[in-house]
Amino acid sequence: MIFQRPGHCPACQAKGRKVVYENLLANLKDISIINPDKEYHFCTNPECQVIYFTLGQTIDHEQLLRKSAYKSKDPDATICYCFGYTIQEANERSYREYRQKKSGGCACKIRNPSAKCCAKLFESFLG
Ligand SMILES: [Zn+2]
Repeated sequence: MIFQRPGHCPACQAKGRKVVYENLLANLKDISIINPDKEYHFCTNPECQVIYFTLGQTIDHEQLLRKSAYKSKDPDATICYCFGYTIQEANERSYREYRQKKSGGCACKIRNPSAKCCAKLFESFLG
């Protein structure tokens, strides 16, 4: 049995961010792999292929319905899950549009695998 620090990714040891159960439901291809009794975390390390983990289980980035720009640099990887922006769509114009849409509210806690606002990530892809 591999020793696992609570709240830290078993693959890379990075500190995770707690996600709600609905977040996994919204983002995984196969929701039968989720144990509803367990608490899941998002792995914050961009170099690590684990997207979610809990004690005794890791879930790979490939299990996501849509590739996340946190973990993949593919042009079609998703930056913003609330309004559907991908890496290839990121530019000054789409960023302004995104900010405007976002001002009406967003649902990152559930829709974004990272459970966090993607504004900083979006900004990192602007020229
Ligand atoms: Zn990790």
